[in-house]
Amino acid sequence: MLICRFAVGEDIWFGAVDGLDDDDQVTDESIVAPIEGHPFVDIRPEGSVMKLADVRLLAPVIPSKIVCVGKNYREHAAEMDSEAPDEPLLFLKPSTAVIGSGDPIDLPWQSEQVEHEGELAVVIGRMCKDIPIDRVDEVVFGYTCANDVTARDLQKSDGQWARAKGFDTFCPLGPWIQTELSPADADLTVRVNGEQRQHGGIDAMVHDVPAVVSYVSSCMTLLPGDVILTGTPEGVGPLTDGDLVSVGISGIGTLTNPVRSAAP
Ligand code: MG
Repeated sequence: MLICRFAVGEDIWFGAVDGLDDDDQVTDESIVAPIEGHPFVDIRPEGSVMKLADVRLLAPVIPSKIVCVGKNYREHAAEMDSEAPDEPLLFLKPSTAVIGSGDPIDLPWQSEQVEHEGELAVVIGRMCKDIPIDRVDEVVFGYTCANDVTARDLQKSDGQWARAKGFDTFCPLGPWIQTELSPADADLTVRVNGEQRQHGGIDAMVHDVPAVVSYVSSCMTLLPGDVILTGTPEGVGPLTDGDLVSVGISGIGTLTNPVRSAAP
């Protein structure tokens, strides 16, 4: 099932999406059925159905925190002149960085080198701590596309990553959550202005989804709606004013964001 969050006028709902084409793209036939409350306990349709084209999609969740894994694909670690670490390398992005599909990524005046990192995002559905690897399925609500937007120059000059990864708009999520994905069977493609920049199978991760979720939960309590970004394949590259960047994952859909210069 595909679960989105959307607005109609002042009202905000979660809803179930249906009627996409074979490439998980929106058509004239695509619909959304609003559900009651939030989707983490059970999914109860409210009763109405509307055209997906008539609603405004929002980020599919507002997480309390976004936990990220660095250097989780060997070829990306190599392009950073580094190696994939033996244990997952964790860092955080603030919840205020989250935007939805269609929202603009603002290039901050402090950086001259902002880059895309297309990633599979795990959405947590249950409060949990110390989850063993073989029980991770019980706490994962679903998966969505993410862009771990990074000010590469500040990442290097600051020595740690809070500022480089934490600007407002630096965590596009969406367009919706797929609750039935088998992540090891999916592949990820990033395009900038239609040109392919990143492409790879999710199965190339060094630490897979169960290992990552278990590892994160051994450190911090995870809450419903929390998001874990699982790392990016090779091919990261620059974003400039006027670009259109998309992160597509087979079986989920495509997260698309325009890029613009932010006023100083
Ligand atoms: Mg990343």
